[in-house]
Amino acid sequence: MKHNLSQGREIVAIPGPSIIPDRVLSAMHRAMPDIYEGDLTTVIDSVWAGLPEVVQTSGRVFVPIGNGHAAWEMALSNTLSRGDHVLVLNCGRFAAIWAEMAEFNGLNVEVMEAEEGFANEPSALEERLRADVNHEIAAVLTVHVDTATSVRNDVPALRKAIDAAGHPALFMVDCIASMGCERFEMDAWGIDVTIAASQKGMMTPPGLGLVWANEKALAAHESADLRTRYWDWTYRSEDGPYYLRFCGTPPVSHLFGLAEALAMMVEEGWEARWERHRVLADGVRAAVDAWSTPGGIGFIAQREDQRSDSVTSVTTGSIDAVELRRLCRQQMGVTLGLGIGSDESASFRIGHMGHVNAPAILGVLGSIETALTSMGAPLGSSGVQAATAALSQ
Ligand SMILES: *Cc1c(COP(=O)(O)O)cnc(C)c1O
Repeated sequence: MKHNLSQGREIVAIPGPSIIPDRVLSAMHRAMPDIYEGDLTTVIDSVWAGLPEVVQTSGRVFVPIGNGHAAWEMALSNTLSRGDHVLVLNCGRFAAIWAEMAEFNGLNVEVMEAEEGFANEPSALEERLRADVNHEIAAVLTVHVDTATSVRNDVPALRKAIDAAGHPALFMVDCIASMGCERFEMDAWGIDVTIAASQKGMMTPPGLGLVWANEKALAAHESADLRTRYWDWTYRSEDGPYYLRFCGTPPVSHLFGLAEALAMMVEEGWEARWERHRVLADGVRAAVDAWSTPGGIGFIAQREDQRSDSVTSVTTGSIDAVELRRLCRQQMGVTLGLGIGSDESASFRIGHMGHVNAPAILGVLGSIETALTSMGAPLGSSGVQAATAALSQ
């Protein structure tokens, strides 16, 4: 590419942190308020009132100041005891990192790997749990969407597998990549602990974890011995002085931002939001499909019905993905996600989560196609044309 076309508003198309709406940025841009009364208490109340609806639960919500890893640690430390056996279902990278944390923190960890490029098999889970006749497995941990492979697990089917085995393990699901983008019904699907974070589909800067717990998880909490004071759910009582929710000073700016993001989600409506993500993701998938060639562009997630609506991971075969990302960023102002878990020169990721609309997605796809064309990459056909056809339906 001869010309530099990057001056203008940059588009971040990495799978988190994602594009933050101006409304959220404006809400955060304010002087520090009193933390004992006034606007902040109103905003905290509105966030606590709004968060259960995001996952459709009547359970309780906890908001650790931290990233997704903080939410992982809060979930483990509040519900489990040293030496407990946990079964981790991995379908890419992220559940495996959670497993490493669990092991470090004193749990006895067993990882079940999905076949590469596929979701975890409910039947394999059922079989493993049936074999655990003494119910030694205390918890099953998994992700809704793995952000490395962009594979989506069938969470209700995994729940059915646990029930079919008649197993009492807690079921904890990391929805960090999918929350606010894809349908998730915590109570109806039988999830005991749900984990998310502020910076992906939730349209708020990184810095807040989100953890929802149902009655069963709160009961397990009573006897959990991994509990520590900072993360402790009991200590973070909603009934105590309000600052106890955060075990110290509240994350003021983030709370104003999150309250605004929640208001935007409610205004859009959950069904409309999930549908928007699905249709835009269909556009991305149509483009990748059109570009694909043997030995060139292709999907990392092998099954159509297991491809996430919030992120798409792409293999590039013989095409240099490092150069592709460089051209997109430096010449066109679009930042693509680094491929992780595999060779970074042979894969990349497109985030399509949260505050994204048709021009954002078409701009990203058009920029990718422009870069690929300038690199002389082998392409099946025009991805942009395929995406516009998909979106126009
Ligand atoms: C991003 C992500 C994480 C890690 O979140 P951090 O905020 O970086 O700690 C964990 N799990 C999934 C599925 C993710 O997408």
